[in-house]
Amino acid sequence: MPIGFTSEVIDEEPKYVPRKTFIECEECNQIFISREYNKTNAAASCNCGNINIGIHITEYAKFENLVTVRWTKSPPKIYEEE
Ligand SMILES: [Zn+2]
Repeated sequence: MPIGFTSEVIDEEPKYVPRKTFIECEECNQIFISREYNKTNAAASCNCGNINIGIHITEYAKFENLVTVRWTKSPPKIYEEE
């Protein structure tokens, strides 16, 4: 095991969410809407820096892009539009 590696690094895999999904930071309560992110608006982070939104361009055209969510302090609340 390399020096400096710790088991705390567990959330490296981004979470993929469908479009029309709300992503709420539980630290600062900022809400993102996944469908607002695309090739021309590809990244955002919340006020407290906990949540980082990005996109993943897909190679095949069924979905133009997927929205990815990473976090540092606590996982976001993710829910579908009603
Ligand atoms: Zn936040």
